[in-house]
Formats: sequence, structure tokens, C-alpha cells
Amino acid sequence: MPPIVVKPPTLQALWRSLPSFGGARRYLAGGTDLVAGANAAPAGVKARPKGGSFDRTEVWVDISGLKELRGIKETKTSLMIGAGAKIAELEASPLVRRWLPVLSAAIPHFASPSLRNMATIGGNAANASPCADAVCALCAEKAQVLLEFKGKRRKLALPALFKGPKKTVLRKDELIVAFEVPKWKHSGAYLKLGPRSYFGISKAAVAAALEMDGEKVRSVCIALASVAPVPLLAVKTANYLCGRMLNEENARTAAALVKTEVSPITDVRSEAGYRREMCGVLLERALNSIASGVSGIN
Ligand SMILES: Cc1cc2nc3c(=O)[nH]c(=O)nc-3n(C[C@H](O)[C@H](O)[C@H](O)COP(=O)(O)OP(=O)(O)OC[C@H]3O[C@@H](n4cnc5c(N)ncnc54)[C@H](O)[C@@H]3O)c2cc1C
Repeated sequence: MPPIVVKPPTLQALWRSLPSFGGARRYLAGGTDLVAGANAAPAGVKARPKGGSFDRTEVWVDISGLKELRGIKETKTSLMIGAGAKIAELEASPLVRRWLPVLSAAIPHFASPSLRNMATIGGNAANASPCADAVCALCAEKAQVLLEFKGKRRKLALPALFKGPKKTVLRKDELIVAFEVPKWKHSGAYLKLGPRSYFGISKAAVAAALEMDGEKVRSVCIALASVAPVPLLAVKTANYLCGRMLNEENARTAAALVKTEVSPITDVRSEAGYRREMCGVLLERALNSIASGVSGIN
């Protein structure tokens, strides 16, 4: 039996009506993960006859119409990206292009144009895949994530959202409402190694954001996808680069260091040793491309 889909018109209506939706409920945004997952292993009904009838039907709470989750806004210090923003909206946004070079570089690697028209940034995070491209890029952009439950909000650094593959710290019914991404003067790169140039889940991906102070690195954030149980921040490597010249020698040392920070696995998509090696290769390329001004600079 397919799930029941309900569509509250506003966030307030959602919080009001949530208890009436039954126990097994999930949010539905673009549906590109949820529906694909349900088709692969139908989750529709946990059949538990009680008094001769089913007592537990999964309810999908469609949040795609919630205005409160939409839009990309600029404040003095940050961009506020609604969790319901589609990847295609981010792609078309002059604000994203202006302030978020890593995310801008990642989007062309995200699935296909038709998928990007459906998939949301909130769904990319809530799905908690270690391969999530937009999430990895946002981690390098130093994003925070805003969560809400019945009007009460909390804010976390984005990497703190993830506990493991497909596991987050989201509490029952807690909703991702937005991402707050600081505006800082940086350059960025996103390099993804997949089965082909575009359209495919990554074997490894590297997101790098760098702010320069003359010839030296003032601030740097490096995130990696598909090489750990969660989107990973390479803190040791970033600390090494901070305050140093952005040259080929330091890029090479950083590449060696990043290989000690990742913990890839062997699976159907790739082999652990190859993934580890490619993290170094991708990071070195990313740093050299930023140094040569190839990547977007604010
Ligand atoms: C063919 C194909 C190719 C893909 N390629 C890529 C790719 O290259 N890169 C990549 O990163 N991903 C890829 N994906 C995965 C997918 O498109 C993304 O993860 C997408 O961003 C999910 O967003 P959605 O709006 O479709 O989420 P949904 O499918 O609607 O939801 C996903 C999960 O998140 C929960 N959820 C959604 N929104 C919220 C919210 N605001 N708060 C709390 N929970 C929420 C849902 O309950 C569900 O558990 C691909 C998927 C497919 C089918």
C-alpha cells in the first residue's frame, strides 16, 4: 500500500497538525531520495493487523509547499538558504555565485538538470549520505544548519548534523529549515571523482575554500565526501595550510596529510586504497587550481 501524503499549507499548520498524522511519518521535499528509496524497498506499510485492520501506515508530510523553507536571502554577514531551495535555484542564484564559490563549483557535478530541478538542499542534508555533494560543499563554506521543532529553533555547525551514513542528530519530527552561510572573501574549488565526468555518485570528492592574505593562506576549510562515514572536515590539513604560502610544495604536503585524515571503505563503487590516494590527488589539484586563479574568486 502506498504511503499517505499530507501537505500542510504553512509551517504553523504543520506543527499544529503533526500529532494527527500517526506515528510513522517522514518529510517529503523533492522526493529524489525518498521516492527512489521507497521504490527500491517499499516502505509503505508496516503491516501489523490489529482488530483485523492495519494500524500503521506511513505518512509522508509534503513540505514542498512551505513558503517558510523557500528562498535565498542576503544579510549583512551571511546568506540564508531555505532548506526547500532546489539545487537548480542555487545554480541560478547570483547571490550563490557571488558568495559561495565552492557550492557553485559543486552544482554542475550534482546529478542532472532534471534532478536538480527537484532535489532540495535540505533533503541532501537530511538524507545524510557521505556522498552528498551540496552538503560537502556547504561544509567547506563553513555553513551552519538551522533546525526547528514546533517553533523552537537550534543552530549547529553543518558537520555536527551527521552521526553516520544516513544518520543525523535530528530529533523526531525536527525539520531542517535553513542554512546560514557566512560571507567571507574566499576562492573555492570542488573536484569530484566519479564513474564518469558528470552524473554519478562519487568515489571521492574534495571541497576547498581559501581566503588569502597576500601570498599566504589566511583561512581555509577543506571538506571531503565519500571517504568517511560522514562528510568530513580535514582539520589537520587545514591547520597545516593556514599561514603558509599557497605554492606547489605546500599543496603536495597538504595532499600527503589529507590522506591520513580520511577513512574510506571498499564498496561497489571503489576500493579504499584508491579512494585514499585520490583524496591527495584531488586536493593537490584543487589547491593548485585556486593558486592559479582558475576557480571562482569573490
Ligand atoms: C538518479 C539520482 C542521482 C543523484 N545524484 C546525486 C548527486 O550527484 N549528488 C548528490 O549529492 N545527490 C544525488 N542524488 C541524491 C538526491 O537527489 C539528493 O540527496 C537530494 O538533494 C535530496 O533532496 P530531496 O528534496 O529530493 O529529498 P527527499 O527525497 O524529499 O528527502 C530525503 C530525506 O530527507 C528528509 N527530508 C527532506 N527535507 C527535509 C527537511 N527540510 N528537514 C528534515 N528532513 C528532511 C526526508 O524525510 C527523507 O528522509 C541523486 C539521486 C538520484 C535519484
